[in-house]
Amino acid sequence: MTTYRIACIPGDGIGTEVVPAACEVLEAVGAAHDLEFRFTGFDWSCERFTREGAMMPPDGLDRLREHDAILLGAVGYPGVPDHVSLWGLLIPIRRAFDQYVNLRPVRVFEGVPGPLRDASGTDLVIVRENTEGEYSEVGGRMFSGTPDEFAVQESVFSRRGITRVVDYALDLADERGRSLTSATKSNGLIHTMPFWDEIVEERCAERPSVSWESEHIDALAAKLVLDSRKYDVIVASNLFGDILSDLAAGVAGSIGIAPSGNIDPERRNPSMFEPVHGSAPDIAGQGIANPLGTVWAAALMLDHLGHDDAASDVIRAMERLLTDGPRTPDLGGGATTTEVTRALLDLL
Ligand code: ATP
Ligand code: MG
Repeated sequence: MTTYRIACIPGDGIGTEVVPAACEVLEAVGAAHDLEFRFTGFDWSCERFTREGAMMPPDGLDRLREHDAILLGAVGYPGVPDHVSLWGLLIPIRRAFDQYVNLRPVRVFEGVPGPLRDASGTDLVIVRENTEGEYSEVGGRMFSGTPDEFAVQESVFSRRGITRVVDYALDLADERGRSLTSATKSNGLIHTMPFWDEIVEERCAERPSVSWESEHIDALAAKLVLDSRKYDVIVASNLFGDILSDLAAGVAGSIGIAPSGNIDPERRNPSMFEPVHGSAPDIAGQGIANPLGTVWAAALMLDHLGHDDAASDVIRAMERLLTDGPRTPDLGGGATTTEVTRALLDLL
């Protein structure tokens, strides 16, 4: 029996409804694979912020550090600006634990019709650089209120930062056995992107087992819509990866089932797994949130902890559930979160 300590941060809104569902799934699949999960719940949220003036306590990061992984629901609350949850919780965690890979798998499941005619069977993963690049704090504004006003925002790319995310993407492409696509824009961004391309080429040259190509982000965006099935692993900078992830999630048709991982591949620190969706205040408290985004995030967590067999069991159960139902209203069904979770547990 292997035991894992999992920090659970349900957060706000439907986060508090979907995280318990994913924990039940982890317990069920764990029982079949000789894994034990010890969950610690943390009430860190925007709701806590409105009560106590902080998303998490001062020793929050130290407490998380005692865990093997983090399962997060969603943070966001009407009236609390996004930057509070971002800078009060998500960014401190990503930075303190150097979660330099943002992993966003995208699949078009049978039974979940997306908006596109020819996208069925799409199965790809976007590996987004999560710590540097275009989202930097370097820059500023000058001459405000005058006709000469301007703003500057610098991108920061490092050899170390690019190398490590490309290596992660190469490992993943190798494991999946298909291909790697690198997103670039070296014809417009003439300093950072040629540097990115150079390192991609160097790293790929050392991995002849993976076939790879480089595509400009604009063309790649179009091709992801026109021919999404051709892609396998896509590696992209922070901004490009951010945009492509949402584009690909749109292709997949439902925000309710999409997961993401914030990963420290070197396993020095806990990695964090969460659904892509937010706190969804419009449906919070109704018991109809789709739990599958968080369930899939839990499967990513199992994979990261080295239990790909258990992760596959969860994915297979999800596949069957999506084909045969029951489904929550976001997928056109009439089932509740609890009913979908029950059905999934039965399949497991
Ligand atoms: P936040 O500010 O927390 O990111 P948001 O409103 O920007 O919230 P979401 O919370 O992701 O974004 O919600 C977008 C839409 O998708 C809402 O209409 C919501 O009800 C729906 N939605 C999101 N997640 C789910 C889910 N798990 N199940 C069903 N519907 C969902
Ligand atoms: Mg949002």
